[in-house]
Amino acid sequence: MKPDNNDIDLKAGALLRRFYGYSSFRDGQLDIIRNAMSRRDTLVLMPTGGGKSICYQIPALLNDGCCIVISPLISLMKDQVTALNANGIPAAAINSSNVEQVNADTMLQASRGRIKLLYMSPERLILEMEHRNFCNWVSLFAIDEAHCISQWGHDFRPEYTALNRIKASYPGIPVMALTATADKITRDDIATQLCLKNPYIHLASFDRPNISLKVLANPGKAKRINTITRMIDRYPDDSGIVYCLSRKGAETINAELAIRGYRSTVYHAGLSSKERDEAQERFINGDVQVVCATVAFGMGIDKSNIRWVVHNNMPRNMESYYQEIGRAGRDGMKAETLLFYSFADIATLQSFIEKSGQPALNTEKLTRMKEYCEATVCRRRVLLSYFNEEYDHDCGNCDVCLDPPVRFDGTRIVQMALSAMSRTNEMIGLTMLIDILRGSARAELIERGYDRIKTYGVGRDLSFSEWNAYLSQMLQLGIIEIAYTESNHLKITPYGRSILKGERTVMLAKFFFDKASSSKKRKS
Ligand code: ADP
Ligand code: ZN
Repeated sequence: MKPDNNDIDLKAGALLRRFYGYSSFRDGQLDIIRNAMSRRDTLVLMPTGGGKSICYQIPALLNDGCCIVISPLISLMKDQVTALNANGIPAAAINSSNVEQVNADTMLQASRGRIKLLYMSPERLILEMEHRNFCNWVSLFAIDEAHCISQWGHDFRPEYTALNRIKASYPGIPVMALTATADKITRDDIATQLCLKNPYIHLASFDRPNISLKVLANPGKAKRINTITRMIDRYPDDSGIVYCLSRKGAETINAELAIRGYRSTVYHAGLSSKERDEAQERFINGDVQVVCATVAFGMGIDKSNIRWVVHNNMPRNMESYYQEIGRAGRDGMKAETLLFYSFADIATLQSFIEKSGQPALNTEKLTRMKEYCEATVCRRRVLLSYFNEEYDHDCGNCDVCLDPPVRFDGTRIVQMALSAMSRTNEMIGLTMLIDILRGSARAELIERGYDRIKTYGVGRDLSFSEWNAYLSQMLQLGIIEIAYTESNHLKITPYGRSILKGERTVMLAKFFFDKASSSKKRKS
């Protein structure tokens, strides 16, 4: 018999008030609960902080038996179980950090209906499936962080692939997959990999309007540190994350902050698991204000007062970027994000890609990331359109909206650069090109005779930073390209040639040097 939705609505609402103290459901939650109660498979796509947990926890409470929750990290399971128990809900986790006797006892209690939510890792579930029958007492399988099953996702975990056996072994038990992953290939892949049967799909908006977006091209080292310390100073009682591409980068920023008296720590895969747990713990409990980390940090961090996220380098793709900035402002209050990027980042990321299994796909993803960084339209529009979400207005909460670029005819500037490239047979990289344009007298330049070409010094009116910014734009506009296989030398594209010949003109966005942030302000 089909359950009566009115009845479910009433009971679900009562549970929401009684166990969670909330008076109404958020968009989508009740529909998801109804579908789960009709024993249909469900795919829940909601951003971080959207309220996914309640979507399976309330069905777990409404149903007889127990809901098994698959979670990738022991720390995540522990947090959830603690929170549920604190609300008076019988929940437990079985995992390798418990004595096996305790685990066995927990399983027994769960199979007798005394535990409503039982958390375990995918490996554990597969192990248990081998010598236990879940038929009569499991009401629902909830797969948290379900994107871990997909190789397309940003956090593939091979252990998750075995979860495709759930549906094969227990076709009658509904499965609910939940993720905050926003890209379409991963979404579709989750349903396929888990063999979901005609699933109900809830796709929430992935916009996080409280998070401001800002990108800064080519900052020097001093500017980076100053900008980060000003960010810390703006939120003295809250915390933030600095993401770096390399372990060394994370160590360096951490050291710079420590010298200036900030309470900071570091987190990356080069540390022992004990060191990492400690760092995470100190961050969660507020002992340190800042964590300087690689992408290894963050999954399962449920800290509501992360007020800002800085990317010290360009992330490898938009998926990672979205996940990482999404760790800020989970409480829905104003949060700030800032991304620094440079040519060096692009070269580093490109070298990662060459070693990756899917160079074509990853290059495409990197290109989209670059386009985001160099966008001269509302960044939120670029971000959400990447995730195939319609968003038809400017957000008013990104750097482009707040400070739109001023455009000017940049044809002459572009021609100077192209001419210098052409006269050096396109055998030079970015720094040498700028040095030639600005008439530097450095030894290597003179040795190679570049001081004798016609364009030597023609661009000395512009600063190094200005040239850097304009060359970035030329790259984005497809006027020049980087030959990664030839020591990152710059090449002129056919489009660039037409500008050099004077057949076409080009508009550039004016670069303003941010004076305020370049002065050396120290924390007193
Ligand atoms: P997610 O797993 O999607 O990141 P959570 O399930 O942790 O999100 O929920 C995020 C926050 O929102 C939690 O503090 C949760 O208690 C709160 N929340 C969830 N649903 C509601 C609701 N209907 N009303 C008010 N707060 C809610
Ligand atoms: Zn905007």
